[in-house]
Amino acid sequence: MYELSNPAVVKSLLAKHEATLLKSLGQNFLINPSVCPRMAEMGGAARDVCALEIGPGLGVLTVELAQRAKKVVAVELDSRLLPVLDDTLKDFDNVRVINADVMKTDLAAIIRDDFDGGETVVCANLPYYITSPIVMYLLESRLPLKSVTVMVQKEAARRLCAKPGEKDAGSVSCAVSYYSQPHVLFDVSAGSFLPRPNVDSSVIRLDIRKEPAVHVVDEALLFRVVHAAFGQRRKTLSNALCAGLVIPKESAANAIESTGISPTVRGERLTLEDFAKIADTLRAQSIC
Ligand code: SAM
Repeated sequence: MYELSNPAVVKSLLAKHEATLLKSLGQNFLINPSVCPRMAEMGGAARDVCALEIGPGLGVLTVELAQRAKKVVAVELDSRLLPVLDDTLKDFDNVRVINADVMKTDLAAIIRDDFDGGETVVCANLPYYITSPIVMYLLESRLPLKSVTVMVQKEAARRLCAKPGEKDAGSVSCAVSYYSQPHVLFDVSAGSFLPRPNVDSSVIRLDIRKEPAVHVVDEALLFRVVHAAFGQRRKTLSNALCAGLVIPKESAANAIESTGISPTVRGERLTLEDFAKIADTLRAQSIC
């Protein structure tokens, strides 16, 4: 088996297969040997669990998942890495690599067909240029996942895991909290990657909720309200909703007030429960 955390091995593998690193695809490969085993363990890879990986790269995390999980499917966009993965994963018969863009992949079909609908976790060192879209795609697709364990830039980890109402929260934090219970697991220094990125990273785990954190009449409206509130962070809530939802300011203010929340508060102070109350009131008062 290749020592994929060894920079010299990584370089010789790339040379052997005449592949170069593509910055545009977020190709920063992990070379810190302690990180992938921890991610696989804390991500829940186990004999009775199937694992879905996004962006296997040269397979450094894939190997750890394959050693622990029942079956692994890894989705890699860069076709030049397929011969490398054939080579590095040749000892495993429980891994399937798919050459595709994860954002255009029917992940529900993989869980159904490859994993027979069995318990599934996502575990991945995500390409940084597309972190939030991938996390949102995984959550909004309502896949039958147990958890999503991903390495992201430290700042993105803080934003994704912030509780609605906290300083770092944004619309993506609200969506994450709605669908899951987020945890920051551990930090990973920039020097753990080849090539070295400019910033440190963190591994986070989103434990998927069986039921959303709040119940609303119209889920799409809840997220329109959240986007409107964070779209104009500096405005008062009533001004932000008036602009973002294109509704009269007085209607926005009345609806907010009838929930017991001040219309002059900033949206970033609201909890998910507050947003849910406002969305349901806007619907009950036929404003939206
Ligand atoms: N898992 C490897 C590791 O930890 O060293 C590589 C991680 S690297 C940060 C991200 C990987 O995602 C790269 O292999 C890149 O080619 C792949 N990738 C980028 N965009 C992708 C996409 N849209 N769908 C699937 N894979 C993608």
